[in-house]
Amino acid sequence: MPLLEVRNLKVYYDLPQGTVKAVDGVSFSLEKGEILGVAGESGSGKSTLAHSIIGLVKPPGRVVDGEIIFEGRNLLELSEEELREIRGKDITMVFQDPNTYLNPVLRIGIQVGEVYEAHLGIEPRKAIDKVVDLLRKVRLTDPERRVESYPHELSGGMKQRVMISMAIALKPKLIILDEPTSALDVTIQAEIMELLMEMRDELGAAMIFISHDLELLGQVSDRLMIMYGGRLVEIGETEEIFRDPLHPYTEALINAIKYVRKEELPTLEGEPPSLLKPPPGCRFHPRCPKRMDRCSLVEPGEYMVGGRRVSCLLYEEEGDA
Ligand code: SF4
Repeated sequence: MPLLEVRNLKVYYDLPQGTVKAVDGVSFSLEKGEILGVAGESGSGKSTLAHSIIGLVKPPGRVVDGEIIFEGRNLLELSEEELREIRGKDITMVFQDPNTYLNPVLRIGIQVGEVYEAHLGIEPRKAIDKVVDLLRKVRLTDPERRVESYPHELSGGMKQRVMISMAIALKPKLIILDEPTSALDVTIQAEIMELLMEMRDELGAAMIFISHDLELLGQVSDRLMIMYGGRLVEIGETEEIFRDPLHPYTEALINAIKYVRKEELPTLEGEPPSLLKPPPGCRFHPRCPKRMDRCSLVEPGEYMVGGRRVSCLLYEEEGDA
């Protein structure tokens, strides 16, 4: 049984202008200890997907269909209390900007200690030795002093280390990383990546790693999932996708990597699709260099090509996934 199985997930946002289908029928699974890289342009639905797994989709967003099976339980059927038990313990998340998560008026030691209070019933002040050990583990300098600091007294890289310490405190089974290094400068990015990979080796946790940096995902992920317009367009072994991308969108991204700065996803000609009114047929057809007449008429299904799942009419004859 996979650690996580997402089946036909649909997450929509009801706006005055209409319904935005941010995630529209996405399915994938994740094995224990596996790293799944997720790439796609802004608005492709990757962050909404991550938030829905951890139960953090807020109105006007709502999960309208699908299942999120974690260790055999459908997270979408759990009460808020049951979900809180899992969130922060078995499934944790590191966000792009720690400032949106850290409380500016609480000392670091208390905030990290709250993880122990929420799940083990240990008061933050009594957990302070554990917190110091944890901060040392994420290589925050002078941890005895840092527990008394407020977030504004730490640099961006230090705050991200604090976030990682909270994410690993209770040895989670799954860590979701939503652009964890993109707000940091390049040298700090490399240090944080090294730390994350060390933590993964030590904990054996699975990771869903969302990033604009396709090259980085190529280096760290076991499998890669490419999203476009709220849908999955290709998923498979990272090495195979880099060697021979099947979907024209994946191919364009990979071909363009060498021409862009490392932290950016390559941009393609044309605009990403509106999720309020997506193009008919294949959502990528207005930008696709390989489009055929029927691409604007027929919505592609998902087809199995070797060990890969790809959503493009070029592979229709391979059979449904
Ligand atoms: Fe391109 Fe057609 Fe494939 Fe869409 S279905 S990616 S338009 S070839």
